[in-house]
Amino acid sequence: MTVAKQRLAILGATGSVGLGTLDVVARHPDRFEVFALTAHARAAELEALCQRWKPRYAALGDVAAAKALQQRLRANGLATEVLAGEPALCELAAHEAVTTVMAAIVGAAGLAPCLAAARAGKRLLLANKEALVVGGALFMNAVRTGGATLLPIDSEHSAIFQCLPEDRSSWSERIDHIVLTASGGPFRSRDPASLHDITPEQAVAHPNWVMGRKISVDSATMMNKALEVIEARWLFDLVPEQVRVVIHPQSIIHSMVVCRDHSVLAQLGTPDMRVPIAYGLAFPERIASGASRLEFETLKDLSFEPADRQRFPGLFLAWDALRAPEGSAAVLNAANEEAVAAFLAGTIRFTDIHRVNAETIAAVLPDLPGDAGLSDLLALDARARAHAQTLVKECAR
Ligand code: NAD
Ligand code: MG
Repeated sequence: MTVAKQRLAILGATGSVGLGTLDVVARHPDRFEVFALTAHARAAELEALCQRWKPRYAALGDVAAAKALQQRLRANGLATEVLAGEPALCELAAHEAVTTVMAAIVGAAGLAPCLAAARAGKRLLLANKEALVVGGALFMNAVRTGGATLLPIDSEHSAIFQCLPEDRSSWSERIDHIVLTASGGPFRSRDPASLHDITPEQAVAHPNWVMGRKISVDSATMMNKALEVIEARWLFDLVPEQVRVVIHPQSIIHSMVVCRDHSVLAQLGTPDMRVPIAYGLAFPERIASGASRLEFETLKDLSFEPADRQRFPGLFLAWDALRAPEGSAAVLNAANEEAVAAFLAGTIRFTDIHRVNAETIAAVLPDLPGDAGLSDLLALDARARAHAQTLVKECAR
């Protein structure tokens, strides 16, 4: 069967998910064409990707860096046009020639381009969970009214999605609750009293997944799972009580749907992001991902344990935020982005991340109007970041 080629804009192409996407795309030149690649600051890495993929467009965060890259590409005979800044990301996400947007930017910075892609009715592959955590109802409305096809890339959400029928209208009758699995990260069995001495290098050394630095720290605090609980609430239209979390250290079961009849559907595989990426790219078909096969004969334990509130207090902020007034999740996300950046910069301790997050959501009360738009959310995000920064300074003293 011949399929029309999908024309891709990969936002965050130089990151872990971005490179994983290009790895899958390279296996299927008959199916995909790379139209646009973007990166924030890693100009040399984006340059190498442009040489390899010869996209029509590239984009960098900074105007001067974009100009310099443009000159280097021209000197090498490449026709790629280099754009700069957030407006360029939104333009590329909504470009009429683009069929498919891979949203692999990290953080709330991805919200505006995700909204642009949703409003333009694109096939939107969402790895950028923070965009949905911050955007919430606004994001989901944009998907509906824009007629976009939203495909989750986060492995847990892809697992849930793979366990559900294509017809969304049957989901609410079908789902009793969902169970997101969590590896527990590198400190699952470490004495909670010793967590304050953790260094950034220890925190980013995840036992099962190779990922960007921010999500790796989030996995160590389990804030990643907190963000995923909120992400799942929106993707699958659930109430907070319908989203549960269990620790599954082997990361083989990627998540589960517990149906109304209490039958449990699970999706399994080796922990390799190319599986959910390939599923999102080819949906509803299946294509080779490059991931190794799960060999059941050599698989040892599949074990489960509850998440410990003392060790992972951040996880429980997810349900607090979902039950609090709208916008609380955006506040939590903003605080966490600031806290993680400060921890990675060596300014605050690992355990201060939770302090900053918890104190910020207690202090910054959302003031969103009923029909909150992007500018309202970004103003709230800025207010939460400012508060988190004052706490970071206190912690650093
Ligand atoms: P990463 O740090 O490896 O890459 C981030 C990418 O975004 C880079 O290309 C970077 O240039 C770009 N970027 C960073 N800040 C930006 C900004 N302000 N504006 C525009 N572009 C910016 O991150 P990652 O691990 O690939 O994660 C990307 C997203 O996918 C995150 O939201 C993460 O939570 C989610 N995710 C990642 C994984 C994984 O295995 N890495 C799994 C599930 C979900
Ligand atoms: Mg995940």
